[in-house]
This record gives sequence, C-alpha cells and structure tokens, in this order.
Amino acid sequence: MQHQLNCNQVVTLLTFYIENKLDKSLSIAVREHLNNCRECSEKYEKLKRILENFSAMKSKIAEEECDNFKEFETEQYKRFKANLSAYIDNELSDSDNIKIKKIAISNPLARKDLEEVYAFKQLLQSSFNRTKNDLKDDYARRTLEKMFENTKEEKVHPFYKLVGIFACIMVFMIIGLINLLNF
Ligand SMILES: [Zn+2]
Repeated sequence: MQHQLNCNQVVTLLTFYIENKLDKSLSIAVREHLNNCRECSEKYEKLKRILENFSAMKSKIAEEECDNFKEFETEQYKRFKANLSAYIDNELSDSDNIKIKKIAISNPLARKDLEEVYAFKQLLQSSFNRTKNDLKDDYARRTLEKMFENTKEEKVHPFYKLVGIFACIMVFMIIGLINLLNF
C-alpha cells in the first residue's frame, strides 16, 4: 500500500518514526516526505534533539559515576520526580504546587526536567491539535477499513464506526501519554 502523507500527518507521526515504531511502508513514506520537505525535516531535527536529550538525561541519572548530577539527586529531587506528572497535570494541592516550584528553582536537575517535559508536551500538543480533524479521523478510517476488509459487507453500522474511532483516539492518547511519562 502506497502512503501519501501531508505535513500535519508527518509531524504527528514523527515521535513514532524516531522511535522506530511505525510499520515499514509508513516509515518509508515519512522518510520520503522528510527528504522533500524542509519545514518538516526541521521539526524532525528539533524533536529528535529533544528526545535525545531525554534519553541522555535518563542514562546520566542512571549512571552512578556522573558526579555532576549526583549531588542534585537528593531526597528532595526524588520527591520532585515522583510528583512531576501530577504537577504538570495540575493535580496537586496549592501547597504541594509551591513545594515543587521551589525545588525546580533551587535544583538544576529538577529545572531541566521540568523545562524538557514542557517543551516536549508543547510540541506534542501542537501537532496533535493541528491534526485532530485530519490524521485521527484518517487513522481511524484506515483502521476501520482494515478491520472490515475481510467482511464482504459494504456498509459498516454507524455504532461500530463510532466505537472504532473512539478506540483509535484512545490508543493515540495512551501512546502520547506513555511517551510523555517514559523519561
Ligand atoms: Zn512537510
């Protein structure tokens, strides 16, 4: 199957492309688009850098011998880490919110974490927003087409269509969330 992708679709797929999570034909289609579109390839480089920083940070923290960061790996920082996603999602009480902010100000490791999560979230959000009427519907439709390919029926009951679209959107959101939290 030949994929023809537009810019919005490519941008939405970039995270999966960088992490090698696309199937082969889709991955080739993204690569071809990137070769021919400067705007998307710039976004690709930017996102790749952010993701690389993420994994670099992850391994830096994992490596015990990294003294630069080790001094900031305090109990306070561990508390910050544990509360980071709740903080980003506005789920903390006011006093906990202030505590997290104070840690972020005083601890460079915490500050860097926070900045990167925000940058990543923003990038992800803007690409999802721009494509929510575009790719999600398209993706849902394609998945539905595949699901019903084998049945000879020409028409799909609207209820199953809705269930399919809803399931696809949920899968998209969960993948996004996992990417966001998995650093
Ligand atoms: Zn493009």
